[in-house]
Amino acid sequence: MPVPLLDLRAQHATIAAEIDAAVARVLTSQRFILGEEVASFERQVAETLGLGHAVGVSSGSDALYLALRALDVGPGSEVVTTVYSFFATAGAIARCGATPVFVDIDEATFNLDVEQALARVGARTAALMPVHLFGRCAEVEALAEAGLPIVEDAAQAIGARRDGVGAGALGQIGCFSFFPSKNLGGAGDGGLLSTADDDLAARLRSLRVHGQHPEVRYEHLEVGGNYRLDALQAAILAVKLPHLTRWNQARRDNAARYQRLFEEAGVVGERGLRLPPASDAHSEDVVNQFVIAARDRDALKAYLGERGVGSAIYYPQPLHLQPCFADLGGAPGDFPRAEAAARESLALPIYPELQAAQIDEVVGYVVDFLRGQGR
Ligand SMILES: *Cc1c(COP(=O)(O)O)cnc(C)c1O
Repeated sequence: MPVPLLDLRAQHATIAAEIDAAVARVLTSQRFILGEEVASFERQVAETLGLGHAVGVSSGSDALYLALRALDVGPGSEVVTTVYSFFATAGAIARCGATPVFVDIDEATFNLDVEQALARVGARTAALMPVHLFGRCAEVEALAEAGLPIVEDAAQAIGARRDGVGAGALGQIGCFSFFPSKNLGGAGDGGLLSTADDDLAARLRSLRVHGQHPEVRYEHLEVGGNYRLDALQAAILAVKLPHLTRWNQARRDNAARYQRLFEEAGVVGERGLRLPPASDAHSEDVVNQFVIAARDRDALKAYLGERGVGSAIYYPQPLHLQPCFADLGGAPGDFPRAEAAARESLALPIYPELQAAQIDEVVGYVVDFLRGQGR
C-alpha cells in the first residue's frame, strides 16, 4: 500500500459539501475582497485560539514581514532568529531592510537555542523571531528575558500550546500560514497575524491595505501594500477551523504510534536514529511534520521511496548558507547542529487521515533499513 507524505484529498472528501456551499455563497455575493467573510473568520480564529486580535493577510511570509513593519523594524536594526527554518523567516527580516542574526538550534527539538539567542542580543536588536518548528512551540518565555518584542513564526503551529498558552499568543505578534500543507490549509495562499495589542492590530490592518487611514479612504499614512486575505479563502478556512482540534489530535496520535513502534522495535539510537520529543505537560505540539534524524538519511529516503513511502527533507540548507545571505559572511561549520540536521533530518507521513496500518508499514521499512536489509 503506498503511503504518501501528505494526502489532502482524503481530508477534503470529509468536508467537500460544506466547502462547496461556502464557495458558492461567496460567488453568489460577488464580494471577494475583505468584507464579512474575512471579518467573521478573523473573529472565529481569535475566539477559538484565544488570540486577542486576528488579522487575515495574503500569506505566512507576508504576515512575518508585516509584523516586523508594525514594530518599526527597518534598516540598521537586527532581528535574532533561528538558522534552521523555511526561508521566509529570514526573508521577512531582509525584506524590511533589517539584518537577520542567526543562532543554532537545540538538537532535540530543532527549535532555536535560547541561550545562544539571548547571547546574540545587542544594541541594534529590534526583535526576536523564534519559529515553532514542526508544530512545537519554542521557549518564548525564556526569550522574553531580553525585554524585546517577540514575533512568533507560528506558520507550522496553529493550535499548539506552551504551558497552556496558544502559539501566536506567547509573544507580541503571532504569524500564521494557511499554505495548503499546513495544519489549517486553504485552497491557495493565505496567512494571519495575531496580537493582543490594539495599536499593533490597527497598524497591521492599515499596512495590509497600502497603509490607508482607517477611516479616510485614499489617504495613506505610510507605504504598506496589498496584503489582504481573499474572502474565498476565509470562507473555506472558516469551514475547516472547527475541525482543527480533532485533526491536530490525530497528528499527535499518529506521532505517539510512531514513537511506540520505534521504541518497541528497539531501534532508537541505531545508525543515529533520533525521534522528535513527544508532547508533554509543557508543550502540546501539533506535529505539522514528524521529523526523525538518521545517518545515511539520503539512502533511507531512497529506500522508502522505492517502497512507495513519501518523505521530505526539511530543510536541506540552513539559512546562513543561502546564496542570498552570502554578504552576512556565514560559512560551513558556523552552526554545526543545524548543519547536522540538514544532513540527517527526514519527515515521515503524519497527516491526520493516515491509517494505523500505514504507520506500521513505514516503521517496518525504516526498521528493515536500519537493520541492514536496506544496504
Ligand atoms: C510555511 C512557512 C512560512 C511561510 O508561509 P507561506 O504562507 O507559505 O508564505 C513561514 N515560516 C515557516 C516556518 C513556514 O513553515
